[in-house]
Order: sequence, then structure tokens, then C-alpha cells
Amino acid sequence: MWSVAAVQLKCEIDGCTETWSVASPAKMKASMAEHRKQFHPGWVQPAPKPMSPYRLDYSRRARSF
Ligand SMILES: [Zn+2]
Repeated sequence: MWSVAAVQLKCEIDGCTETWSVASPAKMKASMAEHRKQFHPGWVQPAPKPMSPYRLDYSRRARSF
């Protein structure tokens, strides 16, 4: 069956804006990794910013003191 739609990928690393498509969603990750390895070898995935509990904690503490 060929019902799986191609997936459009876009790279936005450092304004790369490269777009390409892969035959199936299953190949997305690998294709992305491949592109990064080839064009952005030094790129590291930015760590997801954690909601900072610090700030909440800080203000709460600051208020109670
Ligand atoms: Zn790229």
C-alpha cells in the first residue's frame, strides 16, 4: 500500500531553512539526524527550558520574609 503521505521536513538550525521531504513519518527522525550530521555537525540539541520553579519559589520566599 502506498497510502503513506510524504512528510515535509524543515530545518531551522541557524537560519538554515532547508526543506526536504521523506517518504514516511518513520524516516523523519533519521533523515533529520542525517541532515544535521551533514550540515550542522557541531549542533547540539538545546535543552528544553524547564519551567523555572526557582522564580516562584524565590518570590514566595521573598514575600514571607
Ligand atoms: Zn539545516
